[in-house]
Amino acid sequence: MQNATLWRALLGVEKTVVEDIEFDEDEQLLVAHVRARKRARGRCGRCQRRSPAYARGEGRRRWRALDLGTVQVMLEADAPRVSCPEHGPTVATVPWARHGAGHTRVFDEQVAWLATQCSKSAVTELMRIAWRTVGAIITRVWADVEAIHDRFAGLRRLGIDEISYKRGHRYLTVVVDHDTGRLVWAAPGRDKATLEKFFDALGEDRCAQITHVSADGADWISAVVAERCPNAVRCADPFHIVRWATDALDEVRRQAWNEARGAVTQRRAGRASGQAKALKHARYALWKNPENLTGRQQAKLAWVAKIDPRLHRAYLLKEGLRLVFQLPHDEAAEALESWIGWARRCRISAFVDLQRRIVKHKASILAAIEHGLKIRLITRVAFGFRSPEALIALAMLNLGGHRPVLPGRS
Ligand SMILES: [Zn+2]
Repeated sequence: MQNATLWRALLGVEKTVVEDIEFDEDEQLLVAHVRARKRARGRCGRCQRRSPAYARGEGRRRWRALDLGTVQVMLEADAPRVSCPEHGPTVATVPWARHGAGHTRVFDEQVAWLATQCSKSAVTELMRIAWRTVGAIITRVWADVEAIHDRFAGLRRLGIDEISYKRGHRYLTVVVDHDTGRLVWAAPGRDKATLEKFFDALGEDRCAQITHVSADGADWISAVVAERCPNAVRCADPFHIVRWATDALDEVRRQAWNEARGAVTQRRAGRASGQAKALKHARYALWKNPENLTGRQQAKLAWVAKIDPRLHRAYLLKEGLRLVFQLPHDEAAEALESWIGWARRCRISAFVDLQRRIVKHKASILAAIEHGLKIRLITRVAFGFRSPEALIALAMLNLGGHRPVLPGRS
């Protein structure tokens, strides 16, 4: 074969002999016939151990390689099996692709990089593959990254959260490193058993090194943390606390809306119907931080203050709590105390309940303020994968501190 070195470089393969190149003009497909170099042959595809030949396998196999210009490229080779002492009859490893993959390594690397950089449609159109295939590729790329990096090295302060997917019907439990801001672990489920798996993976010695754990105050998290890291300071993530307040405010707004609507049926008056509608649309004005309000939303808020003082008081309570977490540590503790007093006397049941919940978690809230654990965790992943494995792989590749690089670049 002439220009074998050039072809190896173009195809992005190593330890490979290029035997022949065919170009199918009708299909606009370039097929490179290859074989593994002698030293790379006869090894188990799963453990790389040199093993005796088992059978010739099922004839020729093809692997999709990166396009050359506009032309699609396939590698074609025999796929013999070996008899591994550990894994039994297994397809022999090939230097150009991961075990069991239908794409070359460089193809995989490029897809992984693209998946962390571009939209779903950009990746699938450019690479001419289905999104499901992207999911399979990033899952195997992440498995390799995971195998060579120690994700838990130096883990001291961690945050535990849950994120929803499938439109809020399924959950992942995620763990982040507060010091690096990286995602270190994720698994499907949100219960004790799921979180136990994390601490099992972390191991006893490293559990003992954990100094702080922040979470949203869910009982299933607290119970596991208390058992596995008894010495760690438990903190309530301020982001979650503010979310509780937003939820309480929304409850008050819904009540106000229902009351206004009820007034319509009683009086059948057009004015009240308008009020119900306006309250429904006041949602964003009530949720947003005041500094981000648009002119219209500010006007809406002023309207709420006039028309429904109770709802406006609930809004001020939510804002008051949010401000507590923006104060310096020494002022924050005092501000939290006065907020609790205010909420206790506010006569709005959603906020009286919230106040009780905050009193219950006061120690961990103060710990979070004192230790500055203010990282807002990822709360939503919209990567559109059906399988949690692909979802986790993409989240880890994106946020785990080892982002994919393009093949052939350092
Ligand atoms: Zn093996």
